[in-house]
Amino acid sequence: MMDIVERLAAELGEGRVLTGGAIPERHHADTAGLPPTAPRAVVLPRSTEEVSAALRLCHAAGQPVVTQGGLTGLAGGAHPREGEVVISLERMRGVEEVDTDCATLTALAGTPLQVVQEAAEAAGLLCGIDLGARGSCTIGGNIATNAGGNQVLRYGMARRNVLGLEVVLADGTVVRSLNKMLKNNAGYDWTQLFIGSEGTLGIVTRVVLGLHPRPEGVATALCALGSAAEALALLAALERRFGGGLLVFEGMWREFIAVATERLGQARPFEATHEVLVLVEAAVGDAARLEDALGDFVEAGLIRDAVVARSGRDRARLWAYRETPYEYRTVFDRYVGFDVSVPRARIGEAVTALRAAATARWPDAAQVIFGHIADSNLHVMVMPPGADAAMKDMIERVVYGIVAGFGGSVSAEHGIGRTKRPYLALSRSPEELALMGMMKRALDPSGLLNPGRVL
Ligand SMILES: Cc1cc2nc3c(=O)[nH]c(=O)nc-3n(C[C@H](O)[C@H](O)[C@H](O)COP(=O)(O)OP(=O)(O)OC[C@H]3O[C@@H](n4cnc5c(N)ncnc54)[C@H](O)[C@@H]3O)c2cc1C
Repeated sequence: MMDIVERLAAELGEGRVLTGGAIPERHHADTAGLPPTAPRAVVLPRSTEEVSAALRLCHAAGQPVVTQGGLTGLAGGAHPREGEVVISLERMRGVEEVDTDCATLTALAGTPLQVVQEAAEAAGLLCGIDLGARGSCTIGGNIATNAGGNQVLRYGMARRNVLGLEVVLADGTVVRSLNKMLKNNAGYDWTQLFIGSEGTLGIVTRVVLGLHPRPEGVATALCALGSAAEALALLAALERRFGGGLLVFEGMWREFIAVATERLGQARPFEATHEVLVLVEAAVGDAARLEDALGDFVEAGLIRDAVVARSGRDRARLWAYRETPYEYRTVFDRYVGFDVSVPRARIGEAVTALRAAATARWPDAAQVIFGHIADSNLHVMVMPPGADAAMKDMIERVVYGIVAGFGGSVSAEHGIGRTKRPYLALSRSPEELALMGMMKRALDPSGLLNPGRVL
């Protein structure tokens, strides 16, 4: 009698199933920082039919599986647990079609996001999904996590960009709706159920995205403000002035700028220290229009100061502040990071409460707050020197408790995965959790897809 790994190899071919030392170490962990774990085997299908065959066999054998895309996830959803079989989409890559009449793009789920973006661009269109991990994350992973990013304000989360999906269910059944139409109300839109389900309901194998016209004349500026309330007033003023042209509205609080300038060597952006800086991008045709608007806002007392990029180099210099968290590992031995959201109107109060709590409990810890203000999304990082697991738990309980108190969410965009599972009930009611459990049992009655993630 063959065991499940032998059966997978027999059905898919030896080269498609890796075990033991043949498994590359990258399959042992995603980017959440959990201890690396070797899975039982890694399956590398090249087609939907092979994903289907692998799930059919695992289902029949009661074998738990975990799906891996680009492994850039920050919640531990793709991180293997002992005994699990990894199904990696890394060999299912390629843009199959860009339909310029329908403004759609069809791709295999393992295609890196950047490849999707470049294919859209080559056709004179734009993919509305963009995030820092674009070179490594996959479009299937973006959909499974309902990824956000820098342009959600304009194009929405991944969900708003998806028109059609092909999904393989837990028992190997392939369900396909490669819809290209904006309007299609023929019954339930089941595709939405899989977006943001973090691999717990099925494996996404093929994707149809709606594309957008490419914005022209994008201008960039950094604005200095005295409070979160002033930032929200600026957001409203920019939306009034430029309508749907506003693309980016990224907030960085004063401690964040202090780390960028004092520890990571960036030049001070303004002479004075301001409570919050906002990086703005808008499709305005000509940078002078943004400059004029910001000049008016300074005169009206809406903003304290501003600098507008005059060249590509200037733009890169302004974006470099926002990208400093990617360098934190060079200056902090460890940090506890959060991706939370609170209603926009309460962001200022939430920042005050988070600061006060961290300062009172961990006075030696650096703390930074930044994020996608327009989307209600804050990233919070607390860096206590020499933090151990117990301190990390304590920090998580304090931060998530404050967020829940503001009616916020413990996950704005990265998902629940394994790391935030204990806190899900802070953001969802017992009835919502019961409904999620019903969905999970209906689609994966044996609980074999990404067990221990989300629910
Ligand atoms: C530098 C950096 C910047 C980031 N910036 C952002 C950001 O701005 N916004 C944001 O939302 N996230 C961000 N992330 C998090 C991460 O990039 C996203 O969650 C991304 O969408 C994950 O894609 P992936 O292919 O790497 O998925 P993985 O990490 O491989 O998997 C993530 C989850 O999706 C599941 N999964 C993967 N592929 C499939 C599939 N085909 N079918 C079903 N389930 C699947 C996995 O099982 C897992 O639960 C960032 C990460 C890094 C490292």
